[in-house]
Amino acid sequence: MPIRSSVLPHAARPFTSFSLADQPQVRAALDWFAKNLPWINDEQARLTEIPAPSFQEERRAAAVKALLAAEGMPVHGDKLGNVIAELRGSNDKECILLTAHLDTVFPAGTDVTVHRDGERLLAPGISDNGTGLAALVAVARALHAAKIKPQRTILFAANVGEEGEGNLRGMRALIDSYRNRIRAVIVLDGSGTDHVTTKALASRRLEVIISGPGGHSWSDFGMVNPINALVRGSQRFINTRVPISPRTTFNLGQVEGGTSVNSIPHDATLKVDLRSESEEELGRLENALRECMAAGVKDEMDNARDRSKGKLEWKVNVIGSRPGGELPADSALLASLRAADDFLGNQSRIERSSTDANIPLSLGIDAISIGAGGNGGGAHSLQEWYDPVGREMGLRRVVLTLLGVSGLAPEKGH
Ligand SMILES: [Zn+2]
Repeated sequence: MPIRSSVLPHAARPFTSFSLADQPQVRAALDWFAKNLPWINDEQARLTEIPAPSFQEERRAAAVKALLAAEGMPVHGDKLGNVIAELRGSNDKECILLTAHLDTVFPAGTDVTVHRDGERLLAPGISDNGTGLAALVAVARALHAAKIKPQRTILFAANVGEEGEGNLRGMRALIDSYRNRIRAVIVLDGSGTDHVTTKALASRRLEVIISGPGGHSWSDFGMVNPINALVRGSQRFINTRVPISPRTTFNLGQVEGGTSVNSIPHDATLKVDLRSESEEELGRLENALRECMAAGVKDEMDNARDRSKGKLEWKVNVIGSRPGGELPADSALLASLRAADDFLGNQSRIERSSTDANIPLSLGIDAISIGAGGNGGGAHSLQEWYDPVGREMGLRRVVLTLLGVSGLAPEKGH
């Protein structure tokens, strides 16, 4: 298994949560959260109120950068807009990446004002990923306050482009930059402590573009129509059979085209999301989409009453591709999370999902994605909410898992 030779040795458990929590500094870090919940809630609300659609994360990134810089770490931004702070370890040749995405699915202009209802915070993006970002800065602050020096360097990164057409570009760049040093990746995404994502769901996003000459609905009737072709192709595609196991799904998510009701359109565009537990099924589904669209275009051209008025052109672009992968069951990272769960009396189930962890997992780098505590719901909707009750347990879980794989610097004099 040469691909795994550079990662943490499996089943190695150099630090357990129990032995970690015996250390006074670790104790201090774990205790920090309960004492600082109002600060964490307020920062979560403040960051959430800075709009951050994918590709427009600059202002929120700057706010996170200031918070991380306040913890005395060197902080820099990369050319994509990721913000990275380093808590140097005694072994700086190896590092652990703790990261949360900055971006939201909500377009510019969405009202992101945070409303409070008792303990609850309500706003688009408050949980996904307000919770993850608040946790990232809270963990940095707790480790700083407790004067923790890790063995492996800890990288705190707020990354861009996780959602939608961002296509995990921030995470791809982070892994590119630190590939040789990263030993494990912990992704903080959303709320909860009930799951750990160790399996990366492969997905592909495609854009179908069909174009034609366009014309008048009455006088040019009989001319090829790109929307007709798209409908003909889509009609075929949605009848494609997909297996229940391995679970495979498709979604026709966005349709655009045309200029007015009485014009034969110049173009039609369709965006499709394909997902599968199996890369092979995913490839099959992509082929089916291409074949159905080819057939739809051909149908429309064959049935055009007036072929002298031009032809249809069409293409399919891949606008997103998230590779699959899986964390080995005996990885040190999973052992560290399980130890943290045992210590905290928490139970969590393994999940398969499409997250920032897809990128490292697809490259054989140990990675998990977890919630950062509390409870949330309505992700990707305007009704999104977050309830911070129980947040400190989620944050302790992050710290114990993180320090379990980073280790602590050997004390001087020993
Ligand atoms: Zn998210």
